[in-house]
Amino acid sequence: MIKIKNLTKKYGKKLAVDNISFTVKEGEILGFLGPNGAGKSTTMNILTGYLSATSGEVSVGGFDILDNPIEAKKKIGYLPEHPPLYMDMTVREYLDFVYDLKQVKEDREEHISKICDTVKITDVADRLIANLSKGYKQRVGIAQAMVGNPEILILDEPTVGLDPKQIIEIRSVIKKLGRQHTVILSSHILQEVNAVCERVLIINNGKLVASDTPENLGKTISNENKFQLRVAGEERAILDALEGISGIKYVKSLGRKEAGSIDFVVEAEPDVDVRASIFNALASAKLPMLSLQTMDLSLEDIFLEVTGSQDGVYFADVDEEEIEMINVAKGDTDNESNL
Ligand code: ADP
Ligand code: MG
Repeated sequence: MIKIKNLTKKYGKKLAVDNISFTVKEGEILGFLGPNGAGKSTTMNILTGYLSATSGEVSVGGFDILDNPIEAKKKIGYLPEHPPLYMDMTVREYLDFVYDLKQVKEDREEHISKICDTVKITDVADRLIANLSKGYKQRVGIAQAMVGNPEILILDEPTVGLDPKQIIEIRSVIKKLGRQHTVILSSHILQEVNAVCERVLIINNGKLVASDTPENLGKTISNENKFQLRVAGEERAILDALEGISGIKYVKSLGRKEAGSIDFVVEAEPDVDVRASIFNALASAKLPMLSLQTMDLSLEDIFLEVTGSQDGVYFADVDEEEIEMINVAKGDTDNESNL
């Protein structure tokens, strides 16, 4: 359906997309995962014909985006990072406007109400876009992309800036769309692509660093062996108690989070369950364990794994920057400057 070959984009001297090749099959939901600045929007802008590539080829449904831009673009509905919504139009007026702009042939009334039904904006069809919540604006953005029934939908960070409830709703809209469209969506959040996509491309610094199903990515980089624990006592004594446990790859102190206790990250060797040993070791040293929880897989962890640059074993060094990174990894995803 979509073929991309040796795509490169330079902004002046800045290499934003570096020799990327991939294909997207019909009916697939493909996730584009990467931190801010990775080159996701640039790639999507080239796919949709909004930007020209420095070199490389893009074909959409058999049409080259440069040689046959009109045919290629007809196959694509695009939700850019900042959707071009007209705030002083009602939802209905705006979709009518897009319908005219795209010179759609289908029955206007039927086509637009079907789209409104699918993304659940029928109730707000007569409201001014300016007065809608961010979640509803985003749905209008998706609706706009669906006008004209394009086979392919390209959605650039469709859930950015939404609250958790809106995120869940938009994800289910996207899944539903995936039944009848080829969908490419970008995100800097791993859980997001895991939740919706059948295949994930990981992009970092303009380069493609991994391509797999979310299940396979999860298997190779499973994080079930990484814990965060909180122990009452002195840091040195706790580290001494943990040091003797076999199967632990490293222990790292995160410092004091709660009076009288220290937080640690512990990573175990693959397939070794060290939880009971940790409990026993701390108990016999009379150091009460206050909590133990598995850590969420962070995008940072994945990058370190797929780019093979994980540092060796380290023990007990407290590093402010690392602590910050781990806090972000724990789910503080709206702090974009850290991702
Ligand atoms: P992403 O969508 O993954 O966050 P982008 O494609 O927006 O990444 O950006 C990739 C890189 O290209 C970034 O380093 C960004 O600063 C740079 N970049 C993006 N747009 C421009 C532009 N118009 N001019 C110069 N540099 C740009
Ligand atoms: Mg972007």
